[in-house]
Amino acid sequence: MSVYDVAVIGTGGVGSAAFYHLAQAGANVIGLDRFTPPHDRGSSHGDTRVIRMAYFEHPDYVPLLRQAYQGWHALEEVAGKQIYFPTGVLQIGPEQGEVIAGIRASAAQHNLAIESFTASELPQAFPGVHPPENCVGLFERDAGYLLVSECVAAYLTAAQKLGATLRTNTAVESWEDQSGTFAVRTATETLHAKQLVICGGAWASQLIADLGVPLTILRKHLYWYENASPCYTAGNFPVFLMETPLGIYYGFPQIDSQGVKLARHDGGQPIERAEQHSQVEDSADRHSVQQFMSGYLPQLSHNLARHAACMYTMTPDQHFLVGTHPAHPGLHFAGGLSGHGFKFASALGEILSDLVTQGQTTAPIAFLSATRFS
Ligand SMILES: Cc1cc2nc3c(=O)[nH]c(=O)nc-3n(C[C@H](O)[C@H](O)[C@H](O)COP(=O)(O)OP(=O)(O)OC[C@H]3O[C@@H](n4cnc5c(N)ncnc54)[C@H](O)[C@@H]3O)c2cc1C
Repeated sequence: MSVYDVAVIGTGGVGSAAFYHLAQAGANVIGLDRFTPPHDRGSSHGDTRVIRMAYFEHPDYVPLLRQAYQGWHALEEVAGKQIYFPTGVLQIGPEQGEVIAGIRASAAQHNLAIESFTASELPQAFPGVHPPENCVGLFERDAGYLLVSECVAAYLTAAQKLGATLRTNTAVESWEDQSGTFAVRTATETLHAKQLVICGGAWASQLIADLGVPLTILRKHLYWYENASPCYTAGNFPVFLMETPLGIYYGFPQIDSQGVKLARHDGGQPIERAEQHSQVEDSADRHSVQQFMSGYLPQLSHNLARHAACMYTMTPDQHFLVGTHPAHPGLHFAGGLSGHGFKFASALGEILSDLVTQGQTTAPIAFLSATRFS
């Protein structure tokens, strides 16, 4: 019986990075995915992902973001192409709101550079923006976006060049801890590995159910609107996120012929299982995004060029689950990324690799432990 050092279950956003870092560390690694990543049936598609450092969600993410930025730059070296684009990120909201207060807390604690704009300064500094009343803007210059599918593809290619084995279109049906090795069952075979890394995205609740953390899957929508205004093109306009009375919305400057990509960050349609996900549109969500456009990006056309649907996998507190399974010391996981995890994938992959190869990590991930819910 051949036994791999480690099997990575799910080679999407985070799993592809773990797969690469394990191969780079010299592990005999196999990656298994139910589809062929990069694919559009999970959570890592739709062209672009925001990356920013002054993190409104919690200041404890900032050290992980420093590691993540380094990881993406390293991946660019390995892949020989640009995958991170530093357009700057403009975030707008009320001074005491979740976004602005959170950014200021992270920036103060970690000494991060942010530029402040009043509501009346914003339209001059960023033509095309009509900010909500009583809002301010914070601009983080060294922030931007990642090309999401290119990141996944680059990790998978680089790992295989290092000798890692990838099985696509291979769903793991179950795993079993056999005290010393793990048996991993697919429809056609049982593989054995000394350790497991589980990065199942929206399927995490099926693969790590015994962690006992309730995960909610939300269907989320992305829209690309045709654009004729030079205001919103890359070079003139940054990535943005706005906390408004309508909700929290974000978007990207026009980077190609598809137009300006926009989405609503809060809300979302809960589904029980990832298998129920589809690319079907949600007219209420689209209406909400168009109301946002009318109010706050008034020069943008409402002609829809493209739509895509994707899944957020939410933990009860919207912070990630990362670490080693308390009952299975050889099983490590990253899941419940709650709609903001892609930017961390490079760091999480490295952290998971360290947990496998060294039994520990120096990265400050205690706040992401699953035991916080027990
Ligand atoms: C619309 C949208 C916009 C977002 N915007 C941002 C953003 O701007 N910035 C940001 O940082 N984050 C963002 N996120 C969140 C981020 O994209 C996700 O947190 C991240 O991509 C999740 O990565 P993952 O590896 O957990 O999941 P995935 O990339 O979905 O990977 C999970 C993989 O596991 C595989 N799998 C599942 N079950 C099995 C099984 N049984 N056997 C084998 N394989 C299996 C799946 O096929 C899949 O490939 C956004 C998410 C969405 C949906």
